[in-house]
Amino acid sequence: MTTTRSEPGSRILSIGECMAELAPTEIPGEYRLGFAGDTFNTAWYLARLRPDATVSYCTAVGTDTLSSQMRAAFGEAGIDDSHVYALPDRTVGLYLISLDRGERSFSYWRGQSAARHLADDPEALVRAMDAADLVYFSGITLAILSPAARQTLLEALRRARAAGKCVAFDPNLRPRLWSEMDEMTDAIMEGARVSDIALPSFEDEARWFSDLDPDATIERYRAAGVGTVIVKNGSEPVHYHRGSESGTIAVPPLTHVVDTTAAGDSFNAAILDGLDGTLPLRETIMRACRLAGQVVQGKGALVSVDPVALTS
Ligand code: ADP
Repeated sequence: MTTTRSEPGSRILSIGECMAELAPTEIPGEYRLGFAGDTFNTAWYLARLRPDATVSYCTAVGTDTLSSQMRAAFGEAGIDDSHVYALPDRTVGLYLISLDRGERSFSYWRGQSAARHLADDPEALVRAMDAADLVYFSGITLAILSPAARQTLLEALRRARAAGKCVAFDPNLRPRLWSEMDEMTDAIMEGARVSDIALPSFEDEARWFSDLDPDATIERYRAAGVGTVIVKNGSEPVHYHRGSESGTIAVPPLTHVVDTTAAGDSFNAAILDGLDGTLPLRETIMRACRLAGQVVQGKGALVSVDPVALTS
């Protein structure tokens, strides 16, 4: 049986963990509460780029005040929370940013976070994916789950893809979240095997898969059955491959990079936004570079961006 792959359309589901963030203010010892996390950041930028679309976030939170504040932040960002599960005995993960002479470092409390249970209910996952045209997840989404829950998520993604949904994946390799490096690389390639689109970052891929250059990264994901591969590489050119199209795109140089947090997450949002096919792939990648360029010139993960300035 052949399945017709649907256009990514206007119902987008991002799956993963959003955390509470405590960021230092100008006053020593004072911190500001915010919310961030790779797949959430991408949903946040997508909601800005596509106010007409339904952007949903799938995660698990607690029933405490902090969890309610996180849900309120989803609502304020225009992100639908119909697929956010509330677990009475848990709460959300937390990280705190420390500044030492301008250098940021992060402390995490996420081992017990509710999001680790986002894939415990296979039927709920299927319902969430059935209501979407495009499903997005990352290597961090896979990392926080137990091996059994990871298989539940992968099976639901496989099913969604077979039903004609578009599945997009950012490998986002985070060795600190895995106990064994082989487990990490195996799980990432399992994620690739259920995906139509992969959005890896070359620096991480080179380190953990020994890819000699971005084209080797493209080949590895293509061999896993991924149709569209777009390899980010910081300020270096983006490499891409889709069907008979392949090439590189130079990243516009910037004189003042403030903070590269969420560069890749925002880049991914612009790529997912461009999947409706109204723009050629090269133009979509250029828009992604321009969006990420705006983001690295601001502080933090969620930077107020100007979607109009993305068009050349
Ligand atoms: P990740 O955050 O996933 O590691 P990258 O660091 O590769 O992703 O960055 C993603 C995108 O952000 C790049 O493709 C580029 O468009 C933009 N970007 C990142 N760093 C810079 C930089 N120093 N100058 C200009 N653009 C950048």
